[in-house]
Amino acid sequence: MEFSLSGFGSKNREAVEKEVKLLILGAGPAGMAAALYAARAELEPVVLTGMQLGGQAALTHTIENYPGFPDGVGGTSLGELFQQQAEHFGARVEFGSATSVDLSSRPFKVATDSGTNYKAWSLIIATGAQSNPLNVPGEKDLTGKGVSYCGTCDGWFFKNKDILVVGGGDSAVEEAIFLTRFANSVTIVHRRDELRAGAILQKRAKENPKIKFFWNTVVTEIIGDDAVKSVILKDIVSGETRQHDTDGVFVFVGHTPNSSLFNGQLEIDAKGCIVVDSLMQTTVPGVYAAGEVADPHFRQVVTSAGMGAAAAIQATRFLEAEE
Ligand code: NAP
Repeated sequence: MEFSLSGFGSKNREAVEKEVKLLILGAGPAGMAAALYAARAELEPVVLTGMQLGGQAALTHTIENYPGFPDGVGGTSLGELFQQQAEHFGARVEFGSATSVDLSSRPFKVATDSGTNYKAWSLIIATGAQSNPLNVPGEKDLTGKGVSYCGTCDGWFFKNKDILVVGGGDSAVEEAIFLTRFANSVTIVHRRDELRAGAILQKRAKENPKIKFFWNTVVTEIIGDDAVKSVILKDIVSGETRQHDTDGVFVFVGHTPNSSLFNGQLEIDAKGCIVVDSLMQTTVPGVYAAGEVADPHFRQVVTSAGMGAAAAIQATRFLEAEE
């Protein structure tokens, strides 16, 4: 059903309104798995893509731990397969990001930046998470000029360069290994003396001749004009600082859930995750959350997809209960 309105969410131009049984915010593994299950339950779900079709997984070069792909699968390819499968059963993927929501009564209202506003009888929030910055001087100005948050996207620009990777988790170590395809050397800068990353990744990194480590070290400043030239490093044990020349700084120091749109309308924990019960139910009946926006623990492609499927099953039951 489509008609125009000049009320909620519409700005200057006349907005189109669509009424849907189920709206899914986010097109990563959680959102697409939810779409697949909801489409098979004939809810005709609409998936709003947000900024990143395929979610963070699409920024990963190879995913080796998603079941069913013994040789690994490209992050973008996996996202495309998720989408094809969901669309095959009738899910509709629409481009745009939610800009405001009103969850105070049903149908829930979601305004978007695409000119389409939705009224949804149930909602699955699968908006994922975004990379944390280091928040040091120089970082913002040099983003895209040697500072990056995505090895898969930007690695090619660092052929035969000497670069730093900041962080000690799975993302940092996995991306450091990937970046050795291009870079002359990759130095992992970690604030502790042991990595958080899983054992297989740690072993691979430590055995890789192109990878070095600066332990107990943080970056306190990134220096350069049109391109990164050097960083200031601080040894957190001795307190000493030194300048270190480098061509690039890749930052992987965790993620923040994309939950701010729901502040004041849903319960959100101290880490920014939307609080859900074991059935993916948020504090508003009919609103579910799945994937990294609601997961402070696992944050894997497979667990996000599982949460998305569970959320869709529950949304189906919720809508069926009122028929
Ligand atoms: P993470 O596990 O939260 O690790 C963040 C890393 O950044 C930690 O080593 C942390 O240090 C460091 N850090 C945090 N704030 C910092 C700061 N201000 N300055 C310097 N260092 C800082 O995040 P992630 O690596 O992005 O992983 C997120 C989730 O995705 C995890 O559950 C991970 O298992 C999963 N993941 C899995 C795979 C895979 O299975 N292949 C790949 C990527 C991600 P400390 O260690 O001292 O806290």
